[in-house]
Amino acid sequence: MAKRDYYEILGIEKNASVDEIKKAYRKLAMQYHPDRNPNDKTAEEKFKEAAEAYEVLSNDEKRQKYDRFGHAGMRGGQDYHGFRDVNDIFSHFSDIFGGFGGGGGSIFDDFFGSSSSGRGRQRSGGVPGSDLKVTLKLTLEEIATGSPKKIKIKKYNSCETCKGTGARSDSGFKTCSVCNGAGEVRQVSRSIFGQFVNIAPCNNCNGSGKVISEPCKTCFGDGRIHGESTISINVPPGVTDNSYMTLRGEGNAGKNGGPAGDIIVIFREEEHSYFKRDGDNVIYELFLSFPEAVFGSEVEVPTLTGRAKIKIEPGTQAGKYLKMREKGIPHLNSHGAGDQLVKINIHVPKKVTSREKEILKELQDSPNIKVPEE
Ligand SMILES: [Zn+2]
Ligand SMILES: [Zn+2]
Repeated sequence: MAKRDYYEILGIEKNASVDEIKKAYRKLAMQYHPDRNPNDKTAEEKFKEAAEAYEVLSNDEKRQKYDRFGHAGMRGGQDYHGFRDVNDIFSHFSDIFGGFGGGGGSIFDDFFGSSSSGRGRQRSGGVPGSDLKVTLKLTLEEIATGSPKKIKIKKYNSCETCKGTGARSDSGFKTCSVCNGAGEVRQVSRSIFGQFVNIAPCNNCNGSGKVISEPCKTCFGDGRIHGESTISINVPPGVTDNSYMTLRGEGNAGKNGGPAGDIIVIFREEEHSYFKRDGDNVIYELFLSFPEAVFGSEVEVPTLTGRAKIKIEPGTQAGKYLKMREKGIPHLNSHGAGDQLVKINIHVPKKVTSREKEILKELQDSPNIKVPEE
């Protein structure tokens, strides 16, 4: 099968900046991330393909070579990795995916917590806690002003009695008998290419080299306890429906002192009874009486932050939008805010008194009331 062009894979121009390359790769890797596409072979292939393209294009020297000679100039195993499986990618790009010894500044910080991914070796021992997802409903008013919120959540918390270790006391440990305290085990395998020594963290002690001999009485050796917690979160103004925020280290506590997972808070915008959101603008349908539209008027309308007056010019037509500058939703990532757009509607009465009927009848054929002929 012919190899696809690396720029094409990442969907970027030939002169893309390092930042653009990183961004493009990040997007694809998120899209085809195995966590999001379990057992999907096509997604896995795309994930690998993007990793290879990123590996070459993110390196100046390799990129120059690729620009000059194309795939022919690339040597697998040297210029690119030829990833066999996704775990290979995780370990190779540990600086991006995090996992190996923390590695802050991961480009996946937004979604895939570096401490919680559970990939890579645990030097400190313990099993990392899992991430938790919660949905938070917000009114449009709360979105407009930003809002401090408290969420009740059931999760594992670190055991206070043993400080998360799971042992009754500092002397409640003994050396792991599987790895003899080394924390890792060597496996020797043979193949036609020769002998391979694979070093893996010890499963018995989770890489810490010791196991609990006297478990803590509170948590029975787990180092964590399940219970209800209240989490505080400051929702910034301007969030959108389905966007999310990561609360690092607030998820399930790890087992036996392993790092805690994250809480991913997904925002849900509740439908408003009279405002419609359009990006950062809000639309309000205003009904005027026929005389108000003809004579002009000053009317009070609701906004997301209280009531405000707007001027209606004489002869205002139905369907017209009046703009209330910056009365919409604040921009999330920049200064300023959207507008409130007031759409003019004319109220048409469904029933009229005999007196009203009389007046309207009289007006009906009057030259300025009649709809002019085309
Ligand atoms: Zn061990
Ligand atoms: Zn305990």
